[in-house]
Amino acid sequence: MSRRLLILGSTGSIGTQALDIVQRSDELELVGLSAERSWEQLIGQAREFGVDRIALADADAGARAAEAWTDGEVLVGAEGLVRLVLESGADLVLNGLVGSAGLGPTVAALGEGIDLALANKESLVVGGELVTQLAEATGAQLIPVDSEHSALHQLISGERPGAVDKLVLTASGGPFRGRTRAELEGVTVDEALKHPTWAMGGKITIDSATLMNKGLEIIEAHHLFGTPYDQIDVVVHPQSIVHSLVLLCDGAALAHLGYPDMRVPISYALHHPERVDVPLRPLDLAELGSLTFEPPDRDAFPCLRLAYEAGRAGGTAPCILNAANEVAVHAFLQGRLSFLGIPAVVEDTLARLDTQPVRAFESLYDADREARAVAAELISDGVTA
Ligand code: MG
Repeated sequence: MSRRLLILGSTGSIGTQALDIVQRSDELELVGLSAERSWEQLIGQAREFGVDRIALADADAGARAAEAWTDGEVLVGAEGLVRLVLESGADLVLNGLVGSAGLGPTVAALGEGIDLALANKESLVVGGELVTQLAEATGAQLIPVDSEHSALHQLISGERPGAVDKLVLTASGGPFRGRTRAELEGVTVDEALKHPTWAMGGKITIDSATLMNKGLEIIEAHHLFGTPYDQIDVVVHPQSIVHSLVLLCDGAALAHLGYPDMRVPISYALHHPERVDVPLRPLDLAELGSLTFEPPDRDAFPCLRLAYEAGRAGGTAPCILNAANEVAVHAFLQGRLSFLGIPAVVEDTLARLDTQPVRAFESLYDADREARAVAAELISDGVTA
């Protein structure tokens, strides 16, 4: 059975690895591609895979693409992404966008009953209940691409809900594992971008260094699996071989193992419930020798606590957390904010804004906008730098 696949964010880390999976597959037919602004690369991909509909989030890049490529349709802007989802006739959308910009296309796909392979964790962090309710209402499947959640999805599928006592997310600990808070003062962008085990885009690599990535993943797991926060734990595992585990009521613990390679969870999400070959060497535990585990340092990496707090507060709090973090990480990458300024900006933004209940997606877009403005102001005032 062939599946019509649309990839959002096809020039990014998830997108290019997904294209590698598509290239090896007889079952996946690409019907659309999108990028933020890398229009030349996007056109190259469209030509290579015979796609006749693309979208660019950036208007200027979209205009250039429309001029250079006349073999198909170029859609532009946030609305263009949504139109691409609605008009491409896809059975499955892979959302590999970065940040809360991924929420609109997630809502569009699930609202149409289109299955979603979700690499954009922010869709669930920000949209939470509304996104999962939408999937339930239309019957669309929501398959996580995040490696930890893909592992949990596979581990949980055979268990009745009451049998799972705890979800344990593993974290690599990032490049600064073992450092004290004082030792994190003055770390550079280059140091923060050196992830020890996973090759990923810039935003998520910084999030891994602050442990905000794990914080966002806790909220993501809460919504994906309907698990209360006190039943979700984090353990640091520097080798990134165990991708997560579940603790069951009878004392059994199930873990998912493999070399850190995103093509595994991508392939799982694109072929679910089937499995297909991915060309990886088999896991060799004897060669690895030892796997180590340690508790996260919550003092040096306050983003973990902030995410738990925002998740438990619910309403717009996770949306505010995420928006402030996006602005802070962007400022850090540009050299306008220190590394320790990232959690400080997030905490101060959450303190300045009241958490509101969420009844419609509009209230999320408003909270996102407001939190970005507050975070930007905090950074430009140098309050938390
Ligand atoms: Mg992950």
